[in-house]
Amino acid sequence: MSLLVVGTMAFDALETPFGKVDRVIGGSATYVAWSASYFTQPIRQVSIIGGDFPTTEIDALKKRGVTFEGVEVVKEGKSFFWSGRYHMDMNTRDSLITELNVLADFNPQLPESYQDCEFLMLGNLVPAIQMNVINQLRKRPKLIVLDTMNFWMETAMDDLKKAIGMVDVLLVNDSEARQLTGEYSLPKAAMKIQEMGPKFLIIKKGEHGALLFHDRSVFYAPALPLDEVFDPTGAGDTFAGGFMGHLAKTKDISFENMKTAIIYGSAMASFCVEKFGPQRLQELSEQDIQERMQSFVDLVNFDIDLVG
Ligand code: AMP
Repeated sequence: MSLLVVGTMAFDALETPFGKVDRVIGGSATYVAWSASYFTQPIRQVSIIGGDFPTTEIDALKKRGVTFEGVEVVKEGKSFFWSGRYHMDMNTRDSLITELNVLADFNPQLPESYQDCEFLMLGNLVPAIQMNVINQLRKRPKLIVLDTMNFWMETAMDDLKKAIGMVDVLLVNDSEARQLTGEYSLPKAAMKIQEMGPKFLIIKKGEHGALLFHDRSVFYAPALPLDEVFDPTGAGDTFAGGFMGHLAKTKDISFENMKTAIIYGSAMASFCVEKFGPQRLQELSEQDIQERMQSFVDLVNFDIDLVG
């Protein structure tokens, strides 16, 4: 029984108000895998990379229990490349370049060993590929979570809606929830999205935390106010990894347990933004994570006597 992660493994060029890097490891599946590896192993990775993807990075992930049988290597090809520039608020960014490279011809073939997956995390990727992976699984996983972004709403909305109709949890940020539904009110957007298929919706709000919707219920997880925020890239994927990792570890997909899972997701995301790329996620200890969770508990814990 395991967690299956699908997404990009990439090179990123990033510019934030605090610095610039021309080529750092990135990709949705890279961040998800690093983050989830602190909760559950093995992680069955599905992605595609070019011959330029460093073996040191592959080896580091393998050491964290990430399996590469489902990662296609195109020796003479180039890995997916994305470049983004963050605005001063660090919550909004412009995608400057999206070069699909080897991703353009990606047609994943799930290895037999991946058929045992109980939890499926569809990281941000071409919606047709996300659906293709669901369709290859002979047994439906216990939980399917899908992450996406505005790029796919603009280039593949029909496919994206079909993919959303096949999953249990949708993960988007606030502007994407509005773009997808045409609703400004997030509770109204949440109702519309639930009508599209997913029974649960998580709306990420960057430094303002995340909301979990289910039926008419809503739960809020704050983001930790941090001294240093260098690079928000991958925070959403890292959140997804912590969320899914906790659910896969506990095997409990109740709304109550999802509340705990979004706090774990937020804790992992708070580490991610402290350094460029996935660097900070590569050096964590169990104790770091527990201490960060305690900071979240302290942030929102208060006693109040309600009279009347
Ligand atoms: P996040 O900041 O969580 O949205 O994730 C950023 C990561 O997603 C970067 O490392 C990029 O390589 C990757 N990425 C950017 N655009 C796309 C896209 N259109 N599809 C899949 N992955 C992408």
